[in-house]
Amino acid sequence: MTQQVALLTRHDKARLIAPALSQLPWQVSEIQSFDTDALGSFSAERPRFMSPNECALRKAALAAELSGLDIGLGSEGSFSPGPYGLGTYNLELLCCVNIAQGWAVTGRFYGPSMAQQWQLTNLAQLQQALTQVPAGQHLLLQQGSRIDKALTAQQAYQLGSTLLAQGALTLSYDLRAHLSPERQIHIANAAADLQQRILSLCPACATPGFWPDKAIPGLPCAACATATSLTLHKLACCQRCQFSTTQAVAARYAEPQYCPECNP
Ligand SMILES: [Zn+2]
Ligand SMILES: [Zn+2]
Repeated sequence: MTQQVALLTRHDKARLIAPALSQLPWQVSEIQSFDTDALGSFSAERPRFMSPNECALRKAALAAELSGLDIGLGSEGSFSPGPYGLGTYNLELLCCVNIAQGWAVTGRFYGPSMAQQWQLTNLAQLQQALTQVPAGQHLLLQQGSRIDKALTAQQAYQLGSTLLAQGALTLSYDLRAHLSPERQIHIANAAADLQQRILSLCPACATPGFWPDKAIPGLPCAACATATSLTLHKLACCQRCQFSTTQAVAARYAEPQYCPECNP
């Protein structure tokens, strides 16, 4: 039986996520009456006051509430410096709430992004920066308090060359989902993760989202068997009945370099 599901979005995301959710008996429709930018936006015109997880859950609950349907979906993307401060990483979350059955499951993608920002003072720099932007990626130009959004590379070049006559400017990616092909792929990956998690049911009560995502440290040192901070096993715990199982990681011992005794 097909189930109606509501997605809170203004950026045409249903089309992006539908293929990755094809094993679920869902018909996804979009709720566009709510301005999701009120929850914070990429260009920082409004500050974010919730964590990405809270934001995705809030949007999913709003989708169910505003549509009157049992199941709501909310998507939330964020960008931050990568591991060791290198590059930019994109976290995409897709949260599903079922208010009739009382559960919430969040799919995620976390990986490197090509997103960049350039401070430009001349036309040669603008041309050079634009050669690094992948096809289809839209751009933002900022000069003082002026911001021009959703520009194609061609438009960014034309407007940028005019603005540069008046001074320096900043060129950056417009990271809204409908304007960023890379983000669209990442959102689809988060949807695929969500589908896997929803299809994974609690062995005791069949609530969706039974997933080994909690890392328990204590992998023993190979030299002296002292417990290290590396993951020993992963715990799955049912959000409804608290049934839990642990799953051992592939490694049986930690290298002594991670040991608090051998390498303090
Ligand atoms: Zn359960
Ligand atoms: Zn040791």
